[in-house]
Amino acid sequence: MIGRAIAGAFVAAAIALAAWRAGSLTRSGAVAALFTGTLAIAAGWAWGELLIIYFASSSLLSRVGARVKAERSIGIVEKGGARDATQVFANGAIFALAAVSQLILPSDTWLAAGAGALAASASDTWGTEIGMLAKAPPRMITTWRVVPTGTSGGVSALGLAAMASGTLFIALAAWLVQGNYGNARVAIAVSLGGIVGSLVDSLVGALAQSRRYCATCSSATERVVHDCGTRTERAGGVKWLNNDGVNAASTIIGALVSACAFMLAR
Ligand SMILES: [Zn+2]
Repeated sequence: MIGRAIAGAFVAAAIALAAWRAGSLTRSGAVAALFTGTLAIAAGWAWGELLIIYFASSSLLSRVGARVKAERSIGIVEKGGARDATQVFANGAIFALAAVSQLILPSDTWLAAGAGALAASASDTWGTEIGMLAKAPPRMITTWRVVPTGTSGGVSALGLAAMASGTLFIALAAWLVQGNYGNARVAIAVSLGGIVGSLVDSLVGALAQSRRYCATCSSATERVVHDCGTRTERAGGVKWLNNDGVNAASTIIGALVSACAFMLAR
């Protein structure tokens, strides 16, 4: 395990460095990714492969139609472009925790939990990154009212299809990385965890995430300081609950549902 951890640190460092240079991660994000990646590979190569598949696909999707998406969500989303350490941990901490659990008490249930967390996160990323390319504006998942592109809790037919695809992609990867002794039960459990986790993401994003308002531009936003330089006012939701918090909550649900489904499906 020590040998694999050392090898893992080198692999994770190479990927984190490349992602930092490519602008997918900030410097703090790269350090967080190095930490998460080393733990993953220490837990097993299958864990490392799964994390790399997740990370590479999410980073690639962020780049598809980047200019169109930046224009459509301008001034609404709190963070864009490179992921910082808070974002990396919001999406990867539960997976890292599952990897540590695997090291302490090996069980396939931990892989189901970790992959379930990644599936919920990937589902949100795919839904957001592909959904923002839809021509029609999204509708709020709770009220079905039309909202501006990039609004948390906003969904579209394309976005929902992308969410399901993101979950299935990670579920399939979690099955395949196990090699020829792989357990198909993992894929089913992870699909379930990812779907429930991402629905929780949209619902909590719509109902509880902090909403703000720029009086200068008369527009809704998630930013504390708007693009125009105005400090925004609270407009609803839970004050401290930002998009990172919502994502973290969704990975917890994804992991729990996935692990429970895996144990019950014997
Ligand atoms: Zn403004």
